[in-house]
Amino acid sequence: MVRTAAGRLNRAVPTHQIVVADATLRARPGRWNIGVDGPVITAVSQDRLSGDTEIDAAGGLVTESFVNGHMHLDKVHTLDRIGDAALTAYTAGDMGSALHSIELASAVKADYDRAWIEPNARRAVLQAVRHGVRHVLAFADVDTKARLEGVIPLLSLREEFRGVVDLQVVAFPQDGLLCDPGAEDLVREAVELGADVVGGIPWIEHTDAEAREHVDRMCAIAAAHGRRVAMLVDDAGDASLRTTQMLATAMIEHGLEGRGVANHARAVGLYARPSLERLAGLARRAGLGFVSDPHTGPLHLPVRELTAMGLPVALGQDDIEDAYYPFGRHNMTEIAFLAAHALEAVDTAGIDLVYDAVTTTAARVLGVTGHVLEEGGRADLVVHRHPTLREVLAHHEAPAYVVASGRLVATSIQSTTFHLEGPA
Ligand SMILES: [Zn+2]
Repeated sequence: MVRTAAGRLNRAVPTHQIVVADATLRARPGRWNIGVDGPVITAVSQDRLSGDTEIDAAGGLVTESFVNGHMHLDKVHTLDRIGDAALTAYTAGDMGSALHSIELASAVKADYDRAWIEPNARRAVLQAVRHGVRHVLAFADVDTKARLEGVIPLLSLREEFRGVVDLQVVAFPQDGLLCDPGAEDLVREAVELGADVVGGIPWIEHTDAEAREHVDRMCAIAAAHGRRVAMLVDDAGDASLRTTQMLATAMIEHGLEGRGVANHARAVGLYARPSLERLAGLARRAGLGFVSDPHTGPLHLPVRELTAMGLPVALGQDDIEDAYYPFGRHNMTEIAFLAAHALEAVDTAGIDLVYDAVTTTAARVLGVTGHVLEEGGRADLVVHRHPTLREVLAHHEAPAYVVASGRLVATSIQSTTFHLEGPA
């Protein structure tokens, strides 16, 4: 329930703009009240607090809002345009046909047009508001087929939703760089239009030398324009792929330490232990973060092992109803729920790991600071209906309340009326 000061009998001067009352918090016993002023959390207390607006958490779990580490936002809701041949190729067997699936999926770009891309992406951003997703690493294909048709609507949605859902727009050469002449100039143009992050997909180039060249050129653009990098690396069933290592190396060479993200990196799951440890050491030096999406392919990054080696690993929605994945609601508790199964992370430590991977760890991976539920942290909060993380994942419902930048931006109601005969 939400109350405003005008509706209360005792109109004592409120001490906070918003109070989230009677909250359960992670790793802190008892019930808590959270005071919010402007975009900042100004109190976390077991004493009663009063506010202009009071949100009754009714004992539900309150946490930092969600962060989606990877999303192809220009391609959402395109599955019906293109059919599922690419989906079959991408998810079959050992992902040996992943390259072929990218060729099939690129057919959607034959009539790529911002006029239909914008409403699709808007639907997905509104779903993010509903589900309390505060930050999204949002990829837009930028290549000779897509041109700038995908990136332009994402840049305008970024401005419209700033402070509610912050989009980090990635200029992403989905069809390669050396194997798609002209893509590099388009990526540069997208960055000059304001794209936040320079993308890449080095593993689809034809030789290791060309893959290295791909990574190097994209890192050079990022360094020259003060941008971050985020690349799809080693995304096929081939243990010999080493483009994650190339990305980490190039980040160090271009002075991009702590400013890069490795997405997918599924082949890393096939590495022998010594290769995994070498990569982990290099990634720590580069400050490279990882994003995994184990629900969208049969192979995945070894999330628990890399986390144990001290690397930040986030989870991403990746796709919503496109050529690679037929489902998706932009609901990060659903993603954490699916990951808990794929990663065999269903004990308490595992549930904590996957929830961090869609909240605080994901914020670290994306370079978002202050995303922590404590005094001085950003007032980006979700109020769940259930008191424990286990129940939150079990139900993976939309949060009851979503607070973004200190404003209540979404309320959701779950309700069932039973119509049963006889004894209940
Ligand atoms: Zn992806």
